[in-house]
Amino acid sequence: MNTSPSKKPGLREALGEYIAKSKLRLTPERLAVVEAAEALTGRFTVETLIARVKEGPMGVSPATVYNTVELMVESGILRRLAPADGRSAAYEKATMMARPRLLLVCSACGSTKEIKDPELVKLLDRRRFQSFDPEYYDLKIFGICSKCQRRRRRVRSV
Ligand SMILES: [Zn+2]
Repeated sequence: MNTSPSKKPGLREALGEYIAKSKLRLTPERLAVVEAAEALTGRFTVETLIARVKEGPMGVSPATVYNTVELMVESGILRRLAPADGRSAAYEKATMMARPRLLLVCSACGSTKEIKDPELVKLLDRRRFQSFDPEYYDLKIFGICSKCQRRRRRVRSV
């Protein structure tokens, strides 16, 4: 196993911590599943993961893949997404959409301000689109900033 110290903490470290806390063991088979998940981008199904680990040198059983995915969901490093009709549940790394950007952009002066809106984020995360698999978003809301509003009021009152 290649564990170069320069590598930034990833799924493996996060799951390792969780497993240690739960008094379970991070077996080489579980590690192989985590590494396969780490290599995938976007959304994936357990079937994709099973196919991935099959290509590896380790003989990992589908049951191990399923229960490692469960562990990753419990530990919060993977998110389970509600399946579309008749399809298997999809998963994505929880870090993927962890920091979506919501920007207020002033269309008069061009200034931007990043805002936090957990309710809107939740809504967008849950939103499903027909024949489209969203991976991330970057939302800009255009309008007039408070400075420009003040400036406009001043101009009008003169
Ligand atoms: Zn402005």
